[in-house]
Amino acid sequence: MFCALRLAEAGVRGIAIAERNDRVGKKLSATGNGQGNITNENMSAAHYFSTTGSAERVLQKFGKEDLLFSLQELGGLFFADERGRVYPASRQAASVTDLLRFALARRGVKILTQTKISRVSFEGGAFVAEAEQGKYVAEKLVLACGGKASPHFGSDGCGYLLAEAFGHTCTKLSPSLVQLKTDKSLIRGLKGIRTDCEVWVLREKRELCRYRGDVLFTDYGVSGDAIFRASAFAREGDVLKIDFLPQFTYDIVLRILQNKCENYPYMSAEDLLRCVMNSAIGRNLLRVCDLPHEAKSADIKSRLAALVRAAKGFSLPLTGSAGFENAQVTKGGVRMDELDETMMSKKQKGLYLIGELVDIDGECGGYNLQWAFSSGAVAAEGIAKRGGYAI
Ligand SMILES: Cc1cc2nc3c(=O)[nH]c(=O)nc-3n(C[C@H](O)[C@H](O)[C@H](O)COP(=O)(O)OP(=O)(O)OC[C@H]3O[C@@H](n4cnc5c(N)ncnc54)[C@H](O)[C@@H]3O)c2cc1C
Repeated sequence: MFCALRLAEAGVRGIAIAERNDRVGKKLSATGNGQGNITNENMSAAHYFSTTGSAERVLQKFGKEDLLFSLQELGGLFFADERGRVYPASRQAASVTDLLRFALARRGVKILTQTKISRVSFEGGAFVAEAEQGKYVAEKLVLACGGKASPHFGSDGCGYLLAEAFGHTCTKLSPSLVQLKTDKSLIRGLKGIRTDCEVWVLREKRELCRYRGDVLFTDYGVSGDAIFRASAFAREGDVLKIDFLPQFTYDIVLRILQNKCENYPYMSAEDLLRCVMNSAIGRNLLRVCDLPHEAKSADIKSRLAALVRAAKGFSLPLTGSAGFENAQVTKGGVRMDELDETMMSKKQKGLYLIGELVDIDGECGGYNLQWAFSSGAVAAEGIAKRGGYAI
């Protein structure tokens, strides 16, 4: 949508968007818990992942300021929260979709809804896109089909097949910004508990990221804000570490428990942890540390250090994720080294690939929408300039 709009603003005519859904921007309208976290104050290429390229050059050409300027020109107001996440002042993602819809209509861009492109080719010097309704012939073709994440919004991975028709290849695809599956035996009895934690991901003892926020225990593993953010870095086989008491140092927690042991030598291990942490989490820690919850505190005094270590660095081996169905983003995609700096295919002149379809994914916080907007704008600039339009 943004690519089409930028082209129309440059004066290009005869633009059409083919959308398989009954309306455009269905996913955009659901972003940021319905509030639309479109970019981030701390925008930089360091917040993106790719094994075949980088987001840097595209962001340099069209970054956060360019996006906000552009959307403000269309009549939107935006603000940033304490984490730098930028939202529309309406706090309604659908209102960003509306801005684009109104502008596209004003510029005369044709929107063909319920039009699923099932085949694309380059024949006799032009692109041919085929749908049930018929064939569309075009001088340039932009593939912006999204990835495989949240297929109920229309992005079911069919874009990769369209790209493959032109000889493009994909990197390994995996879900990102998603709930994580863990060793269930270590979280028994915790389902439904939500607590403020610090989490970090370890791969072969190397720390990959660290976040503070909500962790929600589920029957398959963990969810919540901190987990979503950490999931961008995590994969099966990594270890998720959780600090259940991030506000307190190891020494303070140990001292409190040691004093309690001395004052209440007959108190059960379970009662010893009361008012220090959630009681279900406490019981689970005792079980994982092999401490019977009815044991007398005097008898477990020598094991308190191990218990506090577990509370401040609980290890959960990761066994997978909740999959593409539940993920917000696809990690991997069409290889970036098969595209030039304007997002044009090196395999087929005049073909452009943008957004989540390509091998760039961002951290949680507005980075993925910024990439979709930026890559769309850069492709539009490439098309317009090559066609002799000023942009
Ligand atoms: C629930 C949720 C919340 C999110 N929240 C945020 C957030 O707050 N901030 C953020 O930065 N990112 C967020 N994301 C990620 C972000 O929405 C995506 O990365 C971004 O929308 C990708 O844009 P895109 O244009 O590449 O693809 P999409 O937005 O997926 O759009 C692709 C479009 O192409 C259509 N299509 C696909 N194949 C065909 C075909 N063959 N023929 C015709 N039409 C086709 C699809 O129906 C779809 O409308 C969220 C994602 C989800 C699922």
